Amino acid sequence: MTLSFDLTTEGARDALRARAASAEKPSLIGLTRAELGEALVGAGIVPERQAKMRAQQLWHWMYVRGVSDFAGMLNISKDLRAELDKHFTVARPEIVEEQISSDGTRKWLFRFPPRGAGRPVEIETVYIPEEGRGTLCISSQVGCTLTCSFCHTGTQKLVRNLTAEEILAQLLTARDRLGDFPDRDTPDGAIVPAEGRKVSNIVMMGMGEPLYNFEAVKKALLIASDGDGLSLSKRRITLSTSGVVPEILRTGEEIGVMLAISLHATNDDLRDLLVPINKKYPLKELIAACRAYPGLSNAKRITFEYVMLKDVNDSIEDAKGLIKLLKGIPAKINLIPFNPWPGTNYQCSDWETIEKFADYINNAGYASPIRTPRGRDILAACGQLKSDSERMRKVDRLALEAMMIAGHGEA
Ligand code: SAH
Ligand code: SF4
Repeated sequence: MTLSFDLTTEGARDALRARAASAEKPSLIGLTRAELGEALVGAGIVPERQAKMRAQQLWHWMYVRGVSDFAGMLNISKDLRAELDKHFTVARPEIVEEQISSDGTRKWLFRFPPRGAGRPVEIETVYIPEEGRGTLCISSQVGCTLTCSFCHTGTQKLVRNLTAEEILAQLLTARDRLGDFPDRDTPDGAIVPAEGRKVSNIVMMGMGEPLYNFEAVKKALLIASDGDGLSLSKRRITLSTSGVVPEILRTGEEIGVMLAISLHATNDDLRDLLVPINKKYPLKELIAACRAYPGLSNAKRITFEYVMLKDVNDSIEDAKGLIKLLKGIPAKINLIPFNPWPGTNYQCSDWETIEKFADYINNAGYASPIRTPRGRDILAACGQLKSDSERMRKVDRLALEAMMIAGHGEA
């Protein structure tokens, strides 16, 4: 059974619209502490000497308590709350739709304001609950400049980068909806991990190439992992890149999260076709950047994502090539059954082929590489978000079910 809250009707939307971030007032979400203080002083509502203290106070309300309205910030005077509300917002974005799969997977369609010229944009965020963890798959861009040939997002032009606020808003709203802030109730019947946080892990594996939106992604992830705020361990945050080599070292040094590489091929000729950024940064450079990733150890490995494409990259020769290529790198391999989309020429490998490939990899010492498909009834698909899933043909059942997310970080 799929539960769907259709928020496209006028009545249902009015209530949310009132709460939804107004495009006119700047948001305080996504600013560093210093920027937050500067914003308050700049608006003339907080004296310079109080900037630090007020910034800290707001930080706590926004990121520890998850408050999305100044009125809820109870230890701030009424007058100051009114002033804050006049100049700024901490509201959540508009949710166009929330879908809940029978296995607990959730998918939200968010609408963000245009930010300058153009139209409002929509992106999707997916939540996948498991026994011991709940993973949120977050988008970093609307569309993508890259054109990986098997990826539906790759057929869409880049519309724009998401701001740090919009990247964080996906996490904050998911936590709202799951009752994952202190003193909040989890909705009746919601499927969430048995204990601990409802959103315990995040993966930057939604739409877009996060390393082509480096500054905003960095800001958002540093706030998400701030120990006095959202407090997610960097071990539980995974950033997936198609291989923007110059930013990989910076990702380790400046953000310090877990890394996933969309590898998909083990020789340059094939990778040039599948992941065209390979022409700019070929495998040799990519693998060298991986070897140099700071802090690698058996406890902190790089995840290599490998999409299983029938008769393209799924032979035992390919599996051998993969093991050879990754030799000496602390690595996890995630095999992703290809998720077809209307118009693609690729097919998902047969299940037996995937199993054989997986066996070879297991024997070489890499554990459990195929992830179980989730959210099949709502077609929740990381790496392929905002596709026209409703219009998708019911082709190969196996493959349709098969989209999953790779490399969640630590359990
Ligand atoms: N742009 C980044 C992050 C988003 S994609 C990147 O490319 O790494 C997340 C993962 O899903 C990537 O490994 C991507 O290659 C994979 N993916 C994209 N489309 C897919 C599809 N149709 N089927 C299976 N995996 C897909
Ligand atoms: Fe962009 Fe990643 Fe899709 Fe490639 S796989 S087109 S980098 S979103």
